[in-house]
Amino acid sequence: MSSEYKEPGPVLDKENPFESMMRRFDVAAEILQLEPGVYQYLKTPVKQVTVSIPIQMDNGQVEIFEGHRVIHNDILGPSKGGIRYAPDVDINEVKALAAWMTWKCSLLSVPFGGAKGGVKCDPTKLTQVELEKITRRYTANMMDVFGDDKDIPAPDMNTNEQTMAWIMDTYSMHMRRTIGGVVTGKPLLIGGSLGRREATGRGVMIVTLGAMEKIGLKPKDTAIVVQGFGNVGSVSAQLLREQGCKIIGISDVTGGYYNKRGVDVDKAIEYVKQNKTLTGFTGAEKVTQSEFLELDCDVLVPAAKEDQITPKNANKITAKIIAEGANGPTTANADPILNERGIIVIPDILANAGGVTVSYFEWVQNRVGYYWSIDRVNRRLERMMKAAFDGVYATSKKHTVSLRIGAYINSIDRVAKTLKIRGIYA
Ligand code: NAD
Repeated sequence: MSSEYKEPGPVLDKENPFESMMRRFDVAAEILQLEPGVYQYLKTPVKQVTVSIPIQMDNGQVEIFEGHRVIHNDILGPSKGGIRYAPDVDINEVKALAAWMTWKCSLLSVPFGGAKGGVKCDPTKLTQVELEKITRRYTANMMDVFGDDKDIPAPDMNTNEQTMAWIMDTYSMHMRRTIGGVVTGKPLLIGGSLGRREATGRGVMIVTLGAMEKIGLKPKDTAIVVQGFGNVGSVSAQLLREQGCKIIGISDVTGGYYNKRGVDVDKAIEYVKQNKTLTGFTGAEKVTQSEFLELDCDVLVPAAKEDQITPKNANKITAKIIAEGANGPTTANADPILNERGIIVIPDILANAGGVTVSYFEWVQNRVGYYWSIDRVNRRLERMMKAAFDGVYATSKKHTVSLRIGAYINSIDRVAKTLKIRGIYA
């Protein structure tokens, strides 16, 4: 089943995600002069759990799926990270994504460690009933791992509010009481937070405006291209347009859509609601996926998937700023090319950290049992994103490094210092 699945769209230069993360980690570790023991500690995941998930399919046959949960580090608090369902889920990818979560939480001063989970399955070939069974059995097998003060999942690729509701319900059934805080990204009705859905795109908007200010780009003079028109891409496009920027290109898995006078983002969102994809969207000219990334613009927001900006196209990108809405959209080999060309890259662990920040707000609200207004959520998100951006900017200037390395320095430093104070239990 899974071997037949092929996601459309180009993966231009696939890297081993864990190695790719470690290459950036190593540069920061050297600048921080991490002791070898601390280096090893921060590199090694604290826990990796793989479970088998036997499911009786709708046709009566039993199929076995494989599920992982990797806790990279929990020194800052309970570990936090999404769960993805995809045919190509593998432990290396899950390990890299778990480490990214550690750095992301640390960077935003969110008191969580980093984790990630995944189930190797092809959701496009599963019914709702089968998906629910997989989710519940995965959760049952992870009862010793999950917990509202231990390890807290969230949605990721191909999982959503409904998946979180099933996890919360299964976990609560086993614990004999409702424990909302065991997952975030839940539906509002069962303890989700206002503003969570838009949080990642809102964070992208905040740090993009921050970077634009640094180079004197005014919103009214800024043309933006956004790759990916799902949760992150569509909200980033909408909010940046509300700030006065012109969105000249949007794309999804079906291709790129370009209009130099500006795409009507609200119309496109409505179109996707009705039609699922941008295919047939009028008011823009169709371009190929590779032409799309090279469109003439001031800001590029890759908000689709990993490995999109590679040595093959890094020289052709015209944007002055790249705001990484997606996780890992730029390969480690493309970094030096972009740096040399003076392109400011707002790294994923900063640019898309709005999601985990509001997930933290959701968890706080669940534990206190008091729910915040949307204004309070957005104000606090803005404060935390701006503080993280300013901190990264200052570090990058201090060490004359890219924002990416600045972000790694700040986040690794915080985890390493916390480890030093807590000490090693033996
Ligand atoms: P989504 O599934 O809602 O949307 C993904 C979009 O990308 C879709 O429009 C899809 O058609 C498009 N796409 C897929 N392959 C493509 C390709 N090759 N070329 C162009 N477009 C393509 O996903 P999302 O939640 O918006 O997440 C997007 C990225 O952001 C992922 O890397 C995810 O890990 C990251 N991220 C998401 C969140 C969040 O809160 N949703 C938080 C942090 C990071």
